[in-house]
Amino acid sequence: MKIQLLPSSFDSQGRATSEQRLSCFLIDESVTVDAGSIAIALNDAQRRSVRNIIVTHPHMDHIASLPIFVDDLFAELEEPVRVHATAEVIALLERDVFNDNVYVKFAELENSHGRVMEYVPFQLGEKFQVAHLNVTAVAVNHIVPTVGLLVSDGKTTVAFSSDTAETDEFWKMVNRAPRLDALLIEASFPNSMYKLAEAAKHLTPAKLGKELGKLSHNGIDILAVHLKPAYRETLISELAGLKIPSLSVMEPGRTYEW
Ligand SMILES: [Zn+2]
Ligand SMILES: [Zn+2]
Repeated sequence: MKIQLLPSSFDSQGRATSEQRLSCFLIDESVTVDAGSIAIALNDAQRRSVRNIIVTHPHMDHIASLPIFVDDLFAELEEPVRVHATAEVIALLERDVFNDNVYVKFAELENSHGRVMEYVPFQLGEKFQVAHLNVTAVAVNHIVPTVGLLVSDGKTTVAFSSDTAETDEFWKMVNRAPRLDALLIEASFPNSMYKLAEAAKHLTPAKLGKELGKLSHNGIDILAVHLKPAYRETLISELAGLKIPSLSVMEPGRTYEW
């Protein structure tokens, strides 16, 4: 399985920078987890191949360019862009984004081939299929309804925490998986900002270290994601301070393969 954290910003030469402002993970060139930078960072081939998007929660950094992505493709889509999410999250996207005020209601629009966007609801705790992937979602602990995911192609399994504070259901799901190859887990705020992290329901490196105590799989790659750009350097040194050899910070634009 190939996974790339899409870049969110670029330097004056057009090269991807290391800051992660938006969340969008591209899997096997065809599925994404969240859609923050989906309209910004995909190349033309990927823009033609990505038709399934799993939305973990409706925060702006996770959906920012989703409407633009569908808009860019509107005339050429030969199948709808499928937005997989819980019914609760779909209702929020319909109310707050695709509402004819912020953006048009793409789910009600068609081009010459048919529908351009389709909501595909999934149930918490039940396995569902997204393209070639088996996915299970459980609620995590964030300030809006949010899911963590276990994604498998039959050979490789990767877990995505999405945005969360301390959580238990997610670790139960992850530990039940017969194998795990990689874990992508958030580390948003430095340790000194633990109060803000608590209020916004995010992890600090110290909290991440504690959460990893709940993980029963050994020897997997652990990638820290969702580092707030303003505190990136501090977060990197605090994460290194945990002295967990398999833990590193995920680099936007790099393709990881398991
Ligand atoms: Zn969030
Ligand atoms: Zn976020």
